[in-house]
Amino acid sequence: MLINHETITNTLGPGKRYVIWVQGCNKRCFNCINPSGQKMDSGYVKSMEEIKKYILSLDGIRGITVSGGEPLLQYNELRKLAFWIKSRTDLDIMLYSGYTYSEILRKHPDAESFFKNIDIFIDGEYVDKLNTGSMYRGSDNQNIYFFTDRYRSYAEKILSSKQRDFSFEIDGSGEIYFIGIPPENFYRQFLQELEESE
Ligand code: SF4
Repeated sequence: MLINHETITNTLGPGKRYVIWVQGCNKRCFNCINPSGQKMDSGYVKSMEEIKKYILSLDGIRGITVSGGEPLLQYNELRKLAFWIKSRTDLDIMLYSGYTYSEILRKHPDAESFFKNIDIFIDGEYVDKLNTGSMYRGSDNQNIYFFTDRYRSYAEKILSSKQRDFSFEIDGSGEIYFIGIPPENFYRQFLQELEESE
């Protein structure tokens, strides 16, 4: 997989999770939180075997979140990874996509069987002015699907919650990665303040 960033965190889904931000996205949502994830010619490659080995080495995580960039641009790898996670571990899978569920089904006719492996799916582009602090959703145009029973009983609570966690990480080269979903306009204001402080 072509990856933008990966980490272990409590801020992007239920419990402690391994989060992968894939590299590459064709959309250009206003105030995208991860513009470095849009570039198609950046990031690093991690083989499926490396990812699987790493997942098996992790202790105490509840699940895996895949965000981006646009995960569905790497549909074949994602599909294989999801099948493997569900057949070999008891981890849950949370997935983000800038495409809607119906757009994905149109593009990938076998996606219905893929989605049977996804516990929580958040679809749709990020619309900054519809960012009202909703739990797990960047903006309120996005839908949350619960394709398995794992979190379905929490659906109502999740859909009505405004509780959101947000943090950031700085890697060895000084690159800043935001973890979770920030408030409306956050990224633009952050960059402005950064420019003013320089
Ligand atoms: S779909 Fe996600 S990664 Fe792509 S531009 Fe929109 S917010 Fe950014």
